[in-house]
Amino acid sequence: MLYFYKSISPHPIENLHNYLDFFFTRMFDDTQTVYSHAYLIHPNFQGIIDTYKEQIDERLKALFNAYIGLATPQEKQIVKDAYFINNDIVSLSDATNTPIKYSQLPAGISTQIKSFYDELWGDSKILGYATVVNSCGTVKQHFNRFREVNEFLVCPFCGLESLLCEHDDGRDDYDHYLLKSQYPFISINFNNLFPMCHRCNSKNKNQKDLVYENVAAPQRRFYYPYSKEANHEINLNIVSPNNDLKDPTQWQLEVNTTNLAYEDCKETWKDVFNIETRYKATISKHSKFWKERIFSKHHNICKKNGRSYAEFEEDILDDFNDYLNISNGILMKSFNDFVINDPNCQANLTGILIV
Ligand SMILES: [Zn+2]
Repeated sequence: MLYFYKSISPHPIENLHNYLDFFFTRMFDDTQTVYSHAYLIHPNFQGIIDTYKEQIDERLKALFNAYIGLATPQEKQIVKDAYFINNDIVSLSDATNTPIKYSQLPAGISTQIKSFYDELWGDSKILGYATVVNSCGTVKQHFNRFREVNEFLVCPFCGLESLLCEHDDGRDDYDHYLLKSQYPFISINFNNLFPMCHRCNSKNKNQKDLVYENVAAPQRRFYYPYSKEANHEINLNIVSPNNDLKDPTQWQLEVNTTNLAYEDCKETWKDVFNIETRYKATISKHSKFWKERIFSKHHNICKKNGRSYAEFEEDILDDFNDYLNISNGILMKSFNDFVINDPNCQANLTGILIV
Protein backbone atom coordinates (compact mmCIF):
# COMPACT_ATOMS: atom_id res chain seq x y z
CA MET A 1 0.00 0.00 0.00
CA LEU A 2 1.06 3.57 -0.55
CA TYR A 3 1.10 4.80 3.04
CA PHE A 4 -0.04 3.65 6.45
CA TYR A 5 -2.95 4.77 8.60
CA LYS A 6 -2.72 6.08 12.15
CA SER A 7 -4.85 4.14 14.63
CA ILE A 8 -7.42 6.05 16.70
CA SER A 9 -7.66 3.32 19.34
CA PRO A 10 -9.04 3.40 21.96
CA HIS A 11 -12.45 4.32 20.55
CA PRO A 12 -15.91 3.41 21.98
CA ILE A 13 -16.72 1.35 18.86
CA GLU A 14 -14.20 -1.20 20.18
CA ASN A 15 -16.32 -1.81 23.30
CA LEU A 16 -18.34 -4.63 21.77
CA HIS A 17 -15.18 -6.47 20.75
CA ASN A 18 -13.79 -5.87 24.23
CA TYR A 19 -16.94 -7.24 25.91
CA LEU A 20 -16.65 -10.36 23.79
CA ASP A 21 -12.98 -10.58 24.58
CA PHE A 22 -13.94 -10.63 28.27
CA PHE A 23 -16.44 -13.43 27.57
CA PHE A 24 -14.06 -15.60 25.54
CA THR A 25 -11.08 -15.11 27.82
CA ARG A 26 -13.17 -16.29 30.78
CA MET A 27 -14.73 -19.16 28.83
CA PHE A 28 -11.29 -20.32 27.76
CA ASP A 29 -10.00 -20.56 31.34
CA ASP A 30 -12.08 -23.75 31.54
CA THR A 31 -13.27 -23.11 35.11
CA GLN A 32 -16.98 -22.92 34.24
CA THR A 33 -19.27 -25.75 33.25
CA VAL A 34 -22.46 -23.68 33.27
CA TYR A 35 -23.22 -20.51 31.28
CA SER A 36 -23.11 -17.84 33.99
CA HIS A 37 -23.65 -14.13 33.43
CA ALA A 38 -22.01 -13.36 36.74
CA TYR A 39 -18.71 -14.82 35.58
CA LEU A 40 -18.75 -14.58 31.77
CA ILE A 41 -20.41 -11.24 31.06
CA HIS A 42 -18.66 -7.91 31.48
CA PRO A 43 -20.75 -5.66 33.79
CA ASN A 44 -21.07 -3.01 31.06
CA PHE A 45 -22.29 -5.71 28.63
CA GLN A 46 -25.08 -6.88 30.91
CA GLY A 47 -27.62 -4.29 29.78
CA ILE A 48 -27.04 -5.20 26.14
CA ILE A 49 -27.36 -8.91 26.90
CA ASP A 50 -30.61 -8.27 28.75
CA THR A 51 -32.02 -6.23 25.87
CA TYR A 52 -31.16 -8.69 23.13
CA LYS A 53 -31.83 -12.10 24.65
CA GLU A 54 -32.39 -13.97 21.40
CA GLN A 55 -29.86 -12.16 19.24
CA ILE A 56 -26.93 -12.15 21.69
CA ASP A 57 -27.56 -13.95 24.97
CA GLU A 58 -28.97 -17.14 23.47
CA ARG A 59 -26.22 -17.25 20.85
CA LEU A 60 -23.47 -16.83 23.45
CA LYS A 61 -25.06 -19.53 25.55
CA ALA A 62 -25.19 -21.89 22.55
CA LEU A 63 -21.58 -21.09 21.78
CA PHE A 64 -20.54 -21.68 25.39
CA ASN A 65 -22.36 -25.01 25.54
CA ALA A 66 -20.81 -26.08 22.25
CA TYR A 67 -17.37 -25.25 23.62
CA ILE A 68 -17.98 -27.12 26.89
CA GLY A 69 -19.26 -30.06 24.87
CA LEU A 70 -16.17 -30.45 22.73
CA ALA A 71 -14.86 -33.97 23.06
CA THR A 72 -11.17 -33.38 23.72
CA PRO A 73 -8.79 -30.76 25.16
CA GLN A 74 -7.15 -30.68 21.73
CA GLU A 75 -10.39 -29.51 20.13
CA LYS A 76 -10.76 -26.79 22.76
CA GLN A 77 -7.18 -25.72 22.12
CA ILE A 78 -7.88 -25.21 18.40
CA VAL A 79 -10.74 -22.85 19.28
CA LYS A 80 -8.56 -20.95 21.77
CA ASP A 81 -5.74 -20.69 19.24
CA ALA A 82 -8.16 -19.47 16.57
CA TYR A 83 -9.40 -16.75 18.89
CA PHE A 84 -6.06 -15.43 20.13
CA ILE A 85 -4.02 -15.93 16.96
CA ASN A 86 -6.61 -14.59 14.52
CA ASN A 87 -7.03 -11.45 16.59
CA ASP A 88 -3.27 -10.78 16.56
CA ILE A 89 -3.32 -9.17 13.11
CA VAL A 90 0.27 -7.91 13.36
CA SER A 91 1.65 -11.42 13.87
CA LEU A 92 -0.35 -12.63 10.88
CA SER A 93 0.88 -9.79 8.69
CA ASP A 94 4.51 -10.73 9.33
CA ALA A 95 3.72 -14.47 9.22
CA THR A 96 5.03 -15.20 12.72
CA ASN A 97 1.63 -16.80 13.31
CA THR A 98 -0.61 -18.79 11.01
CA PRO A 99 -4.33 -17.96 11.13
CA ILE A 100 -6.92 -20.66 11.70
CA LYS A 101 -9.84 -20.93 9.30
CA TYR A 102 -13.44 -21.85 9.99
CA SER A 103 -12.79 -25.06 8.11
CA GLN A 104 -10.20 -26.00 10.76
CA LEU A 105 -12.49 -25.51 13.75
CA PRO A 106 -14.11 -28.56 15.37
CA ALA A 107 -17.43 -29.30 13.70
CA GLY A 108 -19.18 -29.10 17.06
CA ILE A 109 -18.66 -25.34 17.43
CA SER A 110 -17.86 -23.88 14.01
CA THR A 111 -21.51 -23.19 13.12
CA GLN A 112 -22.22 -21.44 16.41
CA ILE A 113 -19.21 -19.14 16.06
CA LYS A 114 -19.97 -18.29 12.44
CA SER A 115 -23.64 -17.68 13.11
CA PHE A 116 -22.81 -15.26 15.92
CA TYR A 117 -19.97 -13.37 14.23
CA ASP A 118 -21.90 -13.03 10.97
CA GLU A 119 -24.56 -11.14 12.92
CA LEU A 120 -22.17 -8.67 14.51
CA TRP A 121 -20.86 -6.47 11.71
CA GLY A 122 -23.03 -3.93 9.90
CA ASP A 123 -25.30 -0.97 10.58
CA SER A 124 -28.41 -3.19 10.60
CA LYS A 125 -26.77 -5.98 12.56
CA ILE A 126 -25.83 -6.23 16.22
CA LEU A 127 -23.24 -3.43 16.07
CA GLY A 128 -26.04 -1.11 14.90
CA TYR A 129 -28.67 -2.09 17.51
CA ALA A 130 -29.83 0.90 19.55
CA THR A 131 -28.57 -0.27 22.95
CA VAL A 132 -25.24 -1.30 21.42
CA VAL A 133 -24.92 2.11 19.74
CA ASN A 134 -25.53 3.75 23.13
CA SER A 135 -22.50 1.91 24.47
CA CYS A 136 -20.26 1.85 21.40
CA GLY A 137 -21.32 4.67 19.10
CA THR A 138 -21.67 4.18 15.36
CA VAL A 139 -19.23 3.19 12.64
CA LYS A 140 -19.85 6.60 11.07
CA GLN A 141 -18.69 8.26 14.30
CA HIS A 142 -15.58 6.10 14.20
CA PHE A 143 -15.08 7.04 10.55
CA ASN A 144 -15.40 10.77 11.30
CA ARG A 145 -12.75 10.61 14.00
CA PHE A 146 -10.58 8.35 11.84
CA ARG A 147 -10.67 10.84 8.98
CA GLU A 148 -9.86 13.76 11.29
CA VAL A 149 -6.66 11.96 12.30
CA ASN A 150 -5.92 10.50 8.86
CA GLU A 151 -6.11 13.53 6.60
CA PHE A 152 -5.16 11.73 3.40
CA LEU A 153 -7.34 12.61 0.45
CA VAL A 154 -6.94 9.34 -1.41
CA CYS A 155 -7.37 5.67 -0.67
CA PRO A 156 -3.98 4.41 0.57
CA PHE A 157 -4.59 0.99 -0.95
CA CYS A 158 -4.71 2.32 -4.53
CA GLY A 159 -4.07 6.08 -4.68
CA LEU A 160 -6.65 6.24 -7.47
CA GLU A 161 -9.89 7.08 -5.69
CA SER A 162 -10.59 9.87 -3.22
CA LEU A 163 -11.86 9.08 0.27
CA LEU A 164 -14.89 10.66 1.89
CA CYS A 165 -14.33 12.87 4.93
CA GLU A 166 -16.04 13.57 8.24
CA HIS A 167 -18.22 16.26 6.62
CA ASP A 168 -19.73 13.89 4.06
CA ASP A 169 -23.12 12.31 4.77
CA GLY A 170 -21.86 8.78 4.31
CA ARG A 171 -18.59 7.00 4.90
CA ASP A 172 -16.26 4.81 2.92
CA ASP A 173 -16.47 1.04 3.07
CA TYR A 174 -14.73 -0.68 5.96
CA ASP A 175 -12.86 -3.63 4.58
CA HIS A 176 -12.41 -6.81 6.57
CA TYR A 177 -8.73 -7.00 5.78
CA LEU A 178 -8.59 -10.66 6.82
CA LEU A 179 -11.78 -12.12 5.41
CA LYS A 180 -14.55 -12.54 7.96
CA SER A 181 -15.95 -15.34 5.79
CA GLN A 182 -12.74 -17.35 6.21
CA TYR A 183 -11.33 -16.46 9.61
CA PRO A 184 -13.29 -16.75 12.88
CA PHE A 185 -13.46 -14.09 15.60
CA ILE A 186 -12.31 -11.04 13.63
CA SER A 187 -15.48 -9.48 12.24
CA ILE A 188 -15.56 -6.54 14.70
CA ASN A 189 -11.87 -6.27 15.53
CA PHE A 190 -10.98 -2.73 14.48
CA ASN A 191 -7.37 -3.78 13.94
CA ASN A 192 -8.81 -5.72 11.01
CA LEU A 193 -11.24 -3.09 9.73
CA PHE A 194 -9.97 -0.32 7.48
CA PRO A 195 -11.69 2.42 5.48
CA MET A 196 -11.06 1.78 1.83
CA CYS A 197 -12.43 3.08 -1.45
CA HIS A 198 -15.34 1.15 -2.92
CA ARG A 199 -13.36 0.00 -5.96
CA CYS A 200 -10.65 -1.51 -3.79
CA ASN A 201 -13.09 -3.08 -1.37
CA SER A 202 -15.78 -4.46 -3.67
CA LYS A 203 -14.30 -4.62 -7.15
CA ASN A 204 -10.72 -5.69 -6.60
CA LYS A 205 -9.93 -7.11 -3.17
CA ASN A 206 -13.42 -8.48 -2.67
CA GLN A 207 -13.01 -12.07 -1.36
CA LYS A 208 -9.27 -12.39 -2.04
CA ASP A 209 -7.32 -13.82 0.87
CA LEU A 210 -4.30 -11.80 2.01
CA VAL A 211 -2.72 -14.83 3.60
CA TYR A 212 -2.90 -17.33 0.76
CA GLU A 213 -2.86 -16.50 -2.94
CA ASN A 214 -4.69 -19.79 -3.55
CA VAL A 215 -5.44 -22.95 -1.63
CA ALA A 216 -2.16 -24.57 -2.67
CA ALA A 217 0.04 -21.52 -2.05
CA PRO A 218 2.24 -21.05 1.03
CA GLN A 219 1.45 -18.42 3.66
CA ARG A 220 2.53 -14.94 2.62
CA ARG A 221 3.21 -11.69 4.45
CA PHE A 222 1.16 -8.56 3.91
CA TYR A 223 1.27 -4.90 4.88
CA TYR A 224 -0.31 -4.07 8.23
CA PRO A 225 -2.19 -0.81 7.56
CA TYR A 226 -1.27 0.55 11.01
CA SER A 227 2.41 -0.22 10.47
CA LYS A 228 4.82 2.25 12.03
CA GLU A 229 7.49 1.46 9.45
CA ALA A 230 8.97 4.83 8.49
CA ASN A 231 11.08 3.71 5.56
CA HIS A 232 8.26 3.00 3.17
CA GLU A 233 7.69 4.39 -0.28
CA ILE A 234 6.24 2.93 -3.46
CA ASN A 235 7.76 4.13 -6.72
CA LEU A 236 6.57 3.45 -10.24
CA ASN A 237 8.68 3.27 -13.35
CA ILE A 238 7.18 3.25 -16.82
CA VAL A 239 9.27 1.25 -19.30
CA SER A 240 8.29 1.76 -22.92
CA PRO A 241 10.07 1.66 -26.30
CA ASN A 242 8.30 4.90 -27.25
CA ASN A 243 6.22 7.65 -25.63
CA ASP A 244 2.89 6.30 -26.81
CA LEU A 245 1.23 4.66 -23.79
CA LYS A 246 -2.30 4.30 -25.17
CA ASP A 247 -2.02 0.50 -25.44
CA PRO A 248 -1.10 -0.98 -22.03
CA THR A 249 0.08 -4.23 -23.63
CA GLN A 250 2.93 -2.37 -25.37
CA TRP A 251 4.79 -1.18 -22.28
CA GLN A 252 5.68 -2.28 -18.74
CA LEU A 253 5.14 -0.77 -15.34
CA GLU A 254 7.69 -1.52 -12.60
CA VAL A 255 6.25 -1.21 -9.09
CA ASN A 256 9.14 -0.78 -6.65
CA THR A 257 9.46 -0.30 -2.91
CA THR A 258 12.22 1.62 -1.15
CA ASN A 259 12.17 -0.99 1.61
CA LEU A 260 13.41 -4.29 0.23
CA ALA A 261 12.64 -6.05 3.52
CA TYR A 262 8.98 -5.70 2.56
CA GLU A 263 9.30 -6.73 -1.07
CA ASP A 264 7.02 -9.73 -0.47
CA CYS A 265 4.36 -7.54 1.20
CA LYS A 266 4.43 -5.31 -1.87
CA GLU A 267 3.78 -8.36 -4.06
CA THR A 268 0.82 -9.40 -1.88
CA TRP A 269 -0.61 -5.88 -2.13
CA LYS A 270 -0.18 -5.86 -5.92
CA ASP A 271 -1.97 -9.19 -6.24
CA VAL A 272 -4.84 -8.55 -3.83
CA PHE A 273 -5.66 -5.07 -5.13
CA ASN A 274 -5.01 -5.81 -8.81
CA ILE A 275 -2.55 -2.93 -8.81
CA GLU A 276 -0.65 -3.41 -12.03
CA THR A 277 -3.71 -3.76 -14.26
CA ARG A 278 -5.49 -0.82 -12.65
CA TYR A 279 -2.43 1.43 -12.80
CA LYS A 280 -1.62 0.62 -16.41
CA ALA A 281 -5.23 1.13 -17.48
CA THR A 282 -5.36 4.51 -15.74
CA ILE A 283 -2.07 5.68 -17.22
CA SER A 284 -3.14 4.58 -20.70
CA LYS A 285 -6.44 6.40 -20.35
CA HIS A 286 -4.92 9.65 -19.08
CA SER A 287 -1.55 9.79 -20.85
CA LYS A 288 -2.75 12.00 -23.73
CA PHE A 289 -4.13 14.65 -21.35
CA TRP A 290 -1.17 14.49 -18.98
CA LYS A 291 1.16 14.93 -21.93
CA GLU A 292 -0.79 17.95 -23.12
CA ARG A 293 -0.53 19.49 -19.67
CA ILE A 294 3.24 19.10 -19.69
CA PHE A 295 3.42 20.69 -23.14
CA SER A 296 1.22 23.53 -21.92
CA LYS A 297 3.36 24.10 -18.84
CA HIS A 298 6.50 24.15 -20.97
CA HIS A 299 4.85 26.61 -23.32
CA ASN A 300 3.83 28.94 -20.49
CA ILE A 301 7.17 28.85 -18.73
CA CYS A 302 9.61 28.79 -21.60
CA LYS A 303 7.79 30.38 -24.50
CA LYS A 304 5.47 32.92 -22.94
CA ASN A 305 7.60 33.88 -19.95
CA GLY A 306 11.04 33.35 -21.45
CA ARG A 307 12.36 31.21 -18.59
CA SER A 308 14.89 28.41 -19.08
CA TYR A 309 14.25 24.71 -19.64
CA ALA A 310 15.98 24.05 -16.30
CA GLU A 311 13.40 26.26 -14.58
CA PHE A 312 10.63 24.32 -16.33
CA GLU A 313 12.11 21.06 -15.01
CA GLU A 314 12.34 22.54 -11.52
CA ASP A 315 8.70 23.62 -11.69
CA ILE A 316 7.62 20.14 -12.77
CA LEU A 317 9.60 18.59 -9.90
CA ASP A 318 7.90 20.93 -7.43
CA ASP A 319 4.56 19.65 -8.69
CA PHE A 320 5.66 16.07 -7.98
CA ASN A 321 5.77 16.75 -4.27
CA ASP A 322 2.12 17.78 -4.27
CA TYR A 323 0.90 14.86 -6.33
CA LEU A 324 0.95 11.96 -3.91
CA ASN A 325 -2.06 13.15 -1.96
CA ILE A 326 -4.43 13.55 -4.89
CA SER A 327 -6.29 10.98 -6.97
CA ASN A 328 -4.01 9.32 -9.53
CA GLY A 329 -1.12 11.39 -8.13
CA ILE A 330 1.36 8.53 -7.95
CA LEU A 331 0.58 7.71 -11.60
CA MET A 332 0.93 11.34 -12.69
CA LYS A 333 4.29 11.47 -10.96
CA SER A 334 5.49 8.34 -12.74
CA PHE A 335 4.22 9.70 -16.05
CA ASN A 336 5.99 13.03 -15.55
CA ASP A 337 9.18 11.15 -14.66
CA PHE A 338 8.79 9.10 -17.81
CA VAL A 339 8.37 12.17 -20.03
CA ILE A 340 11.02 14.35 -18.39
CA ASN A 341 13.64 11.58 -18.23
CA ASP A 342 13.36 11.00 -21.97
CA PRO A 343 16.66 12.33 -23.41
CA ASN A 344 14.66 13.83 -26.27
CA CYS A 345 12.14 15.56 -24.03
CA GLN A 346 13.44 19.09 -24.49
CA ALA A 347 13.69 18.67 -28.23
CA ASN A 348 10.24 17.12 -28.44
CA LEU A 349 8.61 19.87 -26.39
CA THR A 350 10.32 22.63 -28.29
CA GLY A 351 9.69 21.00 -31.65
CA ILE A 352 6.02 20.35 -31.06
CA LEU A 353 5.44 23.87 -29.90
CA ILE A 354 7.26 25.31 -32.87
CA VAL A 355 5.11 23.21 -35.18
ZN1 LIG B 1 -8.63 2.21 -3.28
